[in-house]
Amino acid sequence: MRNHPSGKFLIFAVCNQIFIAMNTSWILIIVIGIVGMLVQWKLKSVFAKYSKVLSPGGLTGAQIAQKMLNDNGIYDVSVTCIKGQLTDHYDPTKKTVNLSEDVYRMNSVSAAAVAAHECGHAVQHKVGYAPLKLRSSLVPAVNISSKISMFVIIIGLLIINTFPALFWIGIAMFAMVFLFSVVTLPVEFNASRRALAWLQSSNALGQAEAAQAKEALGWAASTYVVAALSSLASLLYYIGLGSSRR
Ligand SMILES: [Zn+2]
Repeated sequence: MRNHPSGKFLIFAVCNQIFIAMNTSWILIIVIGIVGMLVQWKLKSVFAKYSKVLSPGGLTGAQIAQKMLNDNGIYDVSVTCIKGQLTDHYDPTKKTVNLSEDVYRMNSVSAAAVAAHECGHAVQHKVGYAPLKLRSSLVPAVNISSKISMFVIIIGLLIINTFPALFWIGIAMFAMVFLFSVVTLPVEFNASRRALAWLQSSNALGQAEAAQAKEALGWAASTYVVAALSSLASLLYYIGLGSSRR
């Protein structure tokens, strides 16, 4: 007959596991932070490199965007120029493809890739792409959660033995932020896929330039993967912290 572990041993084993999980999460957070910085650096250097490669058709980012929208039967979305670098985004509420100054004016591979990617979101909006709908529906809750979840978790940790529910409310809020970062992944990958397919089929880019655009968009997508992993590691860390304090 096998010996059953005593209650004390079980508690020790559970605490030990939580401690190990907590430490692992710490290491994970640091490793993911370093990977994130490297990916950001690579993204910037790849975009800088391909901003010097002119697109063969000579179209600026703004012209590329307008053409891709029209080719997809979209006529109610306007293309606007906004300040900053890498500030490009599609706004589904205002129906605008917002391009940063460089992307709007330049006729480079980088500008074409970014402009087409943002139009990829406009196409998703038009066809009712399900992950985009889900992502948009999460925005109001995530806006609140991302602002106050840390505060709720810290207060929850201080009073965890008298009122444990508050800590878990904080965890649920942070889990919402994590869920958002996961739902963002198919939205971003799909927008880039649509962008690259159109850049090639429309001959806006040649084969060599399309490969460069693919590389640049690949690095942009990597930043979203890192962000999702980072929020998962943080979530595990907070759960470990709460479990060890009880
Ligand atoms: Zn995007």
